[in-house]
Formats: sequence, structure tokens, C-alpha cells
Amino acid sequence: MSATEDLIASAEAHSAHNYHPLPVVVASAEGAWMTDVEGRRYLDMLAGYSALNFGHGNPRLVEAARKQLGRVTLTSRAFHHDRFAEFCTRLGGLCGKEMVLPMNTGAEAVETAVKTARKWGYRVKGVPDGRARIVVASDNFHGRTTTIVSFSTDPEARSDYGPFTPGFDIVPFGDLEALREAVTEDTVAVLLEPVQGEAGVLVPPPGYLPGVRELTRERGVLFVADEIQSGLGRTGRTFACEHEGVVPDVYLLGKALGGGVVPVSAVVADADVLGVFRPGEHGSTFGGNPLACAVALEVVAMLETGEYQQRATELGEHLHAELGLLAGSGKVVEVRGRGLWAGVDIDPAHGTGREISEKLMARGVLVKDTHGSTIRIAPPLVISKEDLDWGLDQLRAVLS
Ligand code: PLP
Repeated sequence: MSATEDLIASAEAHSAHNYHPLPVVVASAEGAWMTDVEGRRYLDMLAGYSALNFGHGNPRLVEAARKQLGRVTLTSRAFHHDRFAEFCTRLGGLCGKEMVLPMNTGAEAVETAVKTARKWGYRVKGVPDGRARIVVASDNFHGRTTTIVSFSTDPEARSDYGPFTPGFDIVPFGDLEALREAVTEDTVAVLLEPVQGEAGVLVPPPGYLPGVRELTRERGVLFVADEIQSGLGRTGRTFACEHEGVVPDVYLLGKALGGGVVPVSAVVADADVLGVFRPGEHGSTFGGNPLACAVALEVVAMLETGEYQQRATELGEHLHAELGLLAGSGKVVEVRGRGLWAGVDIDPAHGTGREISEKLMARGVLVKDTHGSTIRIAPPLVISKEDLDWGLDQLRAVLS
């Protein structure tokens, strides 16, 4: 048995089968490249679902973590620590908002937003107790907790997990009229991904996000943008909402905020929204810990330069131009996306998304499929143009 087979068999025997990973066992990584236990190298075109926007082992982030490891890593929020204020101030500044509520995972940020919106609804908007409703979009992906899968439309994500949390209304993504009809006096928030990642990198029709902004403002409802996958540089802007000049009331951030080093997520909003919490009403042992703050502060500093957004714009234009040519050749049915992020629907005659991903893996490129014959391309923003072109050459070879 090879080391790869041995480690996969052992993982299969001793871990729950809630994932179906590609058969590669990574041992180390740097920048856009990963090396497996056999010494084979792979170009990472997934970037941990955008958690690795700044690449594997980014020297600035590793150094920030190393320095903080030698000082203090955890205090819990029972005490203050000296990285917390700066982290909240700088992240709030990046978002143009007054307050930050730090958590760890994306799902926790979404859960926190649900609680924030409900509490805001009761305390500020004046919704009668127990009646708050949140409107979400079909084909959403916001995480895996029981409340979050309560408003998923994906049967795989939901089956056997009931009873579910009530209080959510689901409307088709991109349909402003449906949203208008769904919003009632009891609606406290509209929760959306500005680009739906897991659904296959779906960009809503132009005018949709500004329409959501106008509607929510008119009706006194919070607009909560889940930018956990779309935010922090991936689309060529700090936030995907910016492409349409939209500023939501609440940003949800995660993934890249921890630089691929530590899990860090946050709810970011003005004081009229996040000010609803009083001591004891919400929390997390690890949320806002010194190590997380140190790494995320460096992430914020890197984004403040605009350099990564610019890279995503330039490389993204190149990526979409090349994928457009493939679409023209008929092997690819549709390409969607923004910046260095693409959902590519392959003609099913060429195989399922899984089969294409396995063939790419055999050629040294790692991507992940989603629904049917769609693959997602989202390399670290630090990838070189030469490596990106090489990765695209492998995709062309697999489809030829
Ligand atoms: N929200 C969005 C838009 C996501 O893409 C994800 C993860 O893919 C999440 C929330 C959940 O994040 P986590 O897996 O860190 O809980």
C-alpha cells in the first residue's frame, strides 16, 4: 500500500464520512502549490473555498501568528487583551462600519447575524415578540448548523436534521419581485450571498443587489450580506457588494479573514445594529482571541493596500477571457463569476464535475466540483499568471 492509500484507508476507518475528498493527501504547501505525501506537487485552484486568498504559508501572516504565539494566545472575553481594540477598529474601518462582533467559523457569524437581526427587530423595530422573520434566497449556502440548514433548499444538507428552526422565508435568488412580496411588517432582515458560491458561483442579475438595498431601506429591514466566501478580495473588490455600489447594513466575514491560519469570522455593522447586545446575551470562548486578532489584523492591513483586489481584478479578467474561449469551443456550457472566481459548467458528455476534478488532479491541478458537472475555480490571489495559465492548460487538456 502507498502512503496515500494507507492514510486514506485509515481516515476512512476512523473519521465520519461527511466529506468525499479527492484522493490526495497533502503534506505541505506554499503559495499556490501543495505537495502530497508522495512528493507530488499540485496547483491549488480552490484555495480552501477562498479561505486561502493570500496563499499557503503567507510569510506576513505566518510571522504575525508566530509573534503572537510567543506572547498570549487566549484570554477568553472574561478579560481584555491588547490586540482586540485594534482588530475591531481596523476591521470596522475596512468595512466602513462602527462595530465588530468576532466569532470563529462562518456558520457562527451567520448564527450571530440571525440573533442580531431578531434582537434588533424586537428592540429597535418593534416587531411583536416571537414573530420576527428573515427572508433568504433559494440555493443559499450559509453553513451547517441546525438553524442554518433550516433555511437551506438543498435536500442533502437538510435530510434527517429536523425539527427545524422556524422564522425564515425563502425566495428565488435574483428575483426582486418575489422578495418584495415576501417582506412583511415582521421581517427583520434579508440575508443573502451577493454571489452564491456553493450554488456554483451564481452572480445575480444587474440591479438586483441595488434593488435589495432600496427595498430593505424603504421597508425598515436589515440587509445582511454574507461575504464569507465572496468578500476580502476574491471578486476584485474588498466586498462583492461593491461591484454594484451597494453597502449592506451588516457584513458577515469569515474564511480569508483568518488568512488560512486560524478560524476567524465576524459580524460587522453600525452601533444602531450591533449595539443591541448586552453582556451575557451572546459569546464565544475563542471569538476574538489574541492569536486570531493578530492574524486577522495582518489580513486587514494587506487588504487596506488594495493590492490583492487589484490582482484579483487583473488575473480574473485573464481567467474569464480564457474560460470564455473554452465556452466558445462548446466543451464548456457556461462560465460565471467575478474576479478570480469562476463556476464552470462542463458539457456532461465530458464527465461529471467529480470526474473532471479527478482528471485534473492526475495532471497536478486541484479543484472541487459542485452540483453535477460544475467545477469551481478560485486559486489563491497570489497565484502567478504563468501558474494560472498552466492550470488552464491542464483544464483544456482534460476537455480535449
Ligand atoms: N457562508 C458562506 C457564503 C459560505 O460559503 C460558507 C462556507 O462555505 C459559510 C457561510 C460557512 O462557513 P464555515 O464553513 O466556516 O462555517
